[in-house]
Amino acid sequence: MKQPFRIGLGYDVHRLAEGETLVLGGVTISSEFGTVAHSDGDVLLHALCDALLGALALGDIGEHFPDTDAAWRGASSLDLLRHCVGLVNERGYQIGNIDITLILERPKILPYKPEMRSRIAIAAGIDQDAVSLKATTAERLGFAGRGEGIEAHAVVLLTMRD
Ligand code: MG
Repeated sequence: MKQPFRIGLGYDVHRLAEGETLVLGGVTISSEFGTVAHSDGDVLLHALCDALLGALALGDIGEHFPDTDAAWRGASSLDLLRHCVGLVNERGYQIGNIDITLILERPKILPYKPEMRSRIAIAAGIDQDAVSLKATTAERLGFAGRGEGIEAHAVVLLTMRD
């Protein structure tokens, strides 16, 4: 029998470097520093995709979207998110809610949060009030605190489709 609920956890890190682009939650952020990555380096959406895959025990983002796969080269991480949501729906589940924490020293992402939540909600096909997005600094501790990298944690709850 299919379980009524499934929970998933996702985590991702990307290195930051001067002159790179910073994309978070599908939104380009004005910043001197951006993520170093093959993709758009959207650490937030990568953590979210891993949480969705994790909830269904489908492996991880590296298995689904390998760097070597030309089909996904240059793809927006919103495309990856849509693909993962499709896998969720195909299996008879829907997203109940999403909770994400971003850890970065700067810039302040507060002004971008409404747009990020909106893009995630649209790509996931859910209401914005089911998408929680939080950000914290690392109090200048560790790699995130030194501004060397950016970190994201995501949890999702899936419920059986009505
Ligand atoms: Mg990543």
